[in-house]
Amino acid sequence: MARTIFEKHSPGRRGFTLPENDVDYRLDDCLPQKYLREEDVHLPEVSELDVMRHFIELSHRNHFIEKGFYPLGSCTMKYNPKINETLVRNPGFNFLHPHQDEDTVQGALELLYELQRDLAEISGFAQVTLQPVAGAQGEFTGLKIIRAYHESKGNHHKTRIILPDSAHGTNPASVVLTGYDVVEIKSNARGMVDIEALKKAVDENTAGFMLTNPNTLGIFETQIREIAEIIHRVDGLIYMDGANFNALLGIVRPGEIGFDIMHYNLHKTFSTPHGGGGPGSGPIGVRNDLVPFLPTPLIGKKGNQYFLDYGHQKTSFGNVHSFYGNFLVNVRAYIYIKMLGAPGMRRISENAVINANYLMKKLADLFYIPHQDIFCMHEFVASGKWQKEKFGIRTLDIAKRILDKGHHAPTIYFPLIVPEALMIEPTETESKETLDDFINSMREIAAECESNPDIVKQAPLHTPVRRVDDTRAVRELDVKFTW
Ligand SMILES: *Cc1c(COP(=O)(O)O)cnc(C)c1O
Repeated sequence: MARTIFEKHSPGRRGFTLPENDVDYRLDDCLPQKYLREEDVHLPEVSELDVMRHFIELSHRNHFIEKGFYPLGSCTMKYNPKINETLVRNPGFNFLHPHQDEDTVQGALELLYELQRDLAEISGFAQVTLQPVAGAQGEFTGLKIIRAYHESKGNHHKTRIILPDSAHGTNPASVVLTGYDVVEIKSNARGMVDIEALKKAVDENTAGFMLTNPNTLGIFETQIREIAEIIHRVDGLIYMDGANFNALLGIVRPGEIGFDIMHYNLHKTFSTPHGGGGPGSGPIGVRNDLVPFLPTPLIGKKGNQYFLDYGHQKTSFGNVHSFYGNFLVNVRAYIYIKMLGAPGMRRISENAVINANYLMKKLADLFYIPHQDIFCMHEFVASGKWQKEKFGIRTLDIAKRILDKGHHAPTIYFPLIVPEALMIEPTETESKETLDDFINSMREIAAECESNPDIVKQAPLHTPVRRVDDTRAVRELDVKFTW
């Protein structure tokens, strides 16, 4: 094992040089005595090269998309072109201040205006707000709009939002946060909305219906027109969780098939490195009569001038973030859309879908796959059920063994409706060779479950940290390094 940076400590060694101090000062004149250290901190004294090696080495202990395959279902961990990163570091974007006069930020406003329009065009909605900074916040915003819509019509009796059991976990959470009651309906045998169950659940108190499409089983919900009719009949609104939009770009425009509101996950579909909590952007699109309820400002255009449009301030339900949301994430999405253009948008989805189907077919003899008779969209859900029944190996064990093979594990135990779930999303940016490597690894693991189950149960064997006791880690969290 290489020495840690603490063990490389050598008194007097320096990783920096500072000019000689020529200011006469006493520390206790600058800081009150009670804040002064009584003892020196124990920091390792090392060279610049040692520091570099330390951080590079740490970064490699982690998994990231540039290091290896990352099929984490639902999260769309695809490669994000580095040109985005170069361009967003432009001081023209970086040093803007949100309080600058409009005529000094025309370029930035034009970019946001175009992004609003492009997202509206791609999805078939009348208007888009860029304010929400996460998918979940987009949901919250959409539900606030549903509420504002009903309040404007005096629909005070509407207290319930219906969603299927295949919904993403954030959906019911957002419903509760906006003060509505969740009504959950079961999916049918084909993994889609059960229309009969929906009809039974709908009544005068239904405020709306929320649907993840493609749903968390990776299946495209085909009955949208029928669902829309049922919901609209009681003056409810239909919300689409569009975090999985990378399956539909250039193929389906949700605003045209019956959805009233939808959120986009720009950090998934339109390329921003994400994970570890951000940053993100979760704009929402709405149909025409819902525009007055959107947060303010929108970006407007008059002649050749772009401006902050507060025109509907009185009817807006309020704001969910300061200014225009996460500006630089929006810039990345803009670059991505303009770079690929309309044909590129469609190619994203075609590749996402074909990659997922390729994996699904190739793994079908190794793992139980509940809905393999239907083409999946950008992801699919396999299960470790056979391995559990035959060898007592859990999906958790399989996921840990995948780490040993150099890949990130898929999402596991979600969605909840598939026991021992392995939710696999290869994304459109992976080559056939990478997919084949993953298939080979899964083949090896399936064979190990039979020939050497202990190795799978003890995995991971080759990661910097072996299997951790999750419960103990939560209960007795201790992240201090003692030296
Ligand atoms: C990721 C995801 C969300 C939540 O998005 P965040 O940006 O993480 O808040 C919601 N729904 C689906 C289907 C998702 O995949």
